[in-house]
Amino acid sequence: MIGLAGDQAIKALRHAQVWESVTRSFPTVAHWIDGEPISDVMPMAGILDRRRCFVIDDAPIATGVVPLGDAWACTNPSAARGFSLGIWQATLLRDAVGRHADDPVSLVVDYAGATERLLTPWFQDQNDRDRQRAAQFRALLEGRPLEPNPAHAMELALISAVRDDPEAARGWFDIFGCLALPNEVLGRPGMRDRLSAYMGRPMAPPPGPTRDELLALLGTTGRMPVAAGH
Ligand SMILES: Cc1cc2nc3c(=O)[nH]c(=O)nc-3n(C[C@H](O)[C@H](O)[C@H](O)COP(=O)(O)OP(=O)(O)OC[C@H]3O[C@@H](n4cnc5c(N)ncnc54)[C@H](O)[C@@H]3O)c2cc1C
Repeated sequence: MIGLAGDQAIKALRHAQVWESVTRSFPTVAHWIDGEPISDVMPMAGILDRRRCFVIDDAPIATGVVPLGDAWACTNPSAARGFSLGIWQATLLRDAVGRHADDPVSLVVDYAGATERLLTPWFQDQNDRDRQRAAQFRALLEGRPLEPNPAHAMELALISAVRDDPEAARGWFDIFGCLALPNEVLGRPGMRDRLSAYMGRPMAPPPGPTRDELLALLGTTGRMPVAAGH
């Protein structure tokens, strides 16, 4: 379960009993917790979107060391992209080592360039996505309509279309599986036209409790203030 930093009410989810009763209120996943728990609930907070580059102005700040996987970049783990991108990046390192095993400067520069070209767009995509999602959470919490930017509006249209339109569904899963960036999917022939019918269409809420029902399950009676920032 993921919430907005500053949403004090959901901090009660760290207690196993509360977490369990909230999980049971989501019909599509309630059965996941029928098994024996292997641990207590483990909360995770202070998640950073962070990227490191060891090449500045085309020159490595060090040779013999390169960042890979989470050491290169980390984002919101709910995206489930870390393994795919990390393994992809390992192949870039393999290739750079194959080309420049005897030249440590070229190795670092080549690898950083390939990372920048192929992987940084995924980091940026997730960064944008996290900000859009935080804005969406904030609008819901404050009881006001979401005012998405054009890119987010197009993505919401894509998500709305997934249930009806096989091309939209394929596109969404290509994005989700790190096979194609949103611009590539939206640039497919006819995709923007297909999605235009879904622009601005309110999305059906996923099955689960309303905010007030959630607060009741959390043992909280009123709306909690949401701190600024995300
Ligand atoms: C809650 C959560 C859920 C996630 N779910 C998914 C998912 O569903 N799909 C997905 O693709 N990704 C997911 N991720 C992201 C994914 O786990 C990471 O992107 C991936 O593990 C990064 O691999 P890594 O090898 O770079 O780092 P890590 O897996 O963190 O490996 C680094 C290793 O180095 C060790 N280490 C650290 N310091 C030292 C030291 N000084 N000496 C020796 N060893 C050291 C650590 O103990 C660790 O074993 C999730 C992450 C989290 C936190």
